[in-house]
Amino acid sequence: MNPNLEKQLKKELEELKSKNLNRTVDDLRFISSTKAIDSDGKEYLVFGTNNYLGLTHHHDVIKASKDASTYGTGSTGSRLTTGASFEARELEKSISEFKNTESALIFNTGYMTNLGVIYALTKENDIIFSDELNHASIIDGTKISKAKVKVYKHKDTDELERLIQSELKEMNNQNSNFFIASDGVFSMDGDIAPLPELVEIAEKYNCTLIIDDAHATGVIGKTGKGTVEYFKDKTGIDLTDSVDLQIGTLSKALASEGGFVCGKQVYIDYLINKSRPFIFSTALSPSTIASANVALNLLKENSEEYLNNLNSNTKLMRELLINAGLNIVDGETPIIPIIIGPADLANRFSNELKKEGILVSAIRPPSVPKEMSRLRFTIMSTHTKEEIEFTANEIIKIWNNIKK
Ligand code: PMP
Repeated sequence: MNPNLEKQLKKELEELKSKNLNRTVDDLRFISSTKAIDSDGKEYLVFGTNNYLGLTHHHDVIKASKDASTYGTGSTGSRLTTGASFEARELEKSISEFKNTESALIFNTGYMTNLGVIYALTKENDIIFSDELNHASIIDGTKISKAKVKVYKHKDTDELERLIQSELKEMNNQNSNFFIASDGVFSMDGDIAPLPELVEIAEKYNCTLIIDDAHATGVIGKTGKGTVEYFKDKTGIDLTDSVDLQIGTLSKALASEGGFVCGKQVYIDYLINKSRPFIFSTALSPSTIASANVALNLLKENSEEYLNNLNSNTKLMRELLINAGLNIVDGETPIIPIIIGPADLANRFSNELKKEGILVSAIRPPSVPKEMSRLRFTIMSTHTKEEIEFTANEIIKIWNNIKK
């Protein structure tokens, strides 16, 4: 190994450690949707997954995965060569039907979906307007894109409009396309994008609107369809056709792995031809796709039950923490961040909870801004009322000790 590089890497790792920002991998094995054991066999109640509906452990989902493995454990190639399974086509049909869009395309992860969509659709003279709290995969998509990137303050649609107007004034190239990209539910704060305002601006200035519903699909909206449905429930206005591209992931409420984009057929045809993560990576295995497909079918059939459980669990946890005076980010989604501030304190909080058998990770920079370290609790429809009450009590007890 190059001794200079080795020295440099070690120095950087030491710096991260000294700031409590180093990351390590702690092995886990889930024994149910909400409980896991560590490598010493200690059992934990888990409050940090994205498995909102607990479907990773549903009998039908596991069976679908096992059954599809009879077609081979791997997909053997890119979708464009030998990796094009019947399962993938079936899931894409089901997703586009669920989202009421013309078409859908599966990618290997939600991360690759954002990267692959943004990179493929944007060109040199284009401009991408991006919310400052967008997920890293949107940010990285904008970074590798040749387009200019303008970041607007979180959910600040006035600033977004000002930025668009100022770009329009400066522009002398007629061939620029404008894009607006936003999370639907923001991954670290759990708040919801102001979709009606984003649509209004997108329509006024002819921008292509991309909404990442990774944490919204299966989570918000009366039947779990995501951000568009959430606002339809609220306002009665259906914005489906006003969002050009809805992105999602199979790795959260849909209990598997992979990502998807849905929208007009022309986008999907273009991405099949131009999106490098789609073209150059081996497709997901039939098992992975089949399990997501069954999870989606379960969601379609049981949305009322799943979402009622998820919402009442979320409400209970939010109420218990707010009543105890904890500094949680206001909202209504199952992502409940308790803002701690310094990274070392967030680590301590997480470690104390771990001693009590509760697992939730401390989220520190660069995932969140400096001095905004937090514990990010995620509630699941399969948590019991007793588990939530027990966890809230432990949180409150430990927090009262720590802040002394
Ligand atoms: N978008 C958002 C908003 C996310 O939070 C995540 C993952 N946490 C992704 C995309 C990436 O999805 P995946 O884990 O399937 O790569």
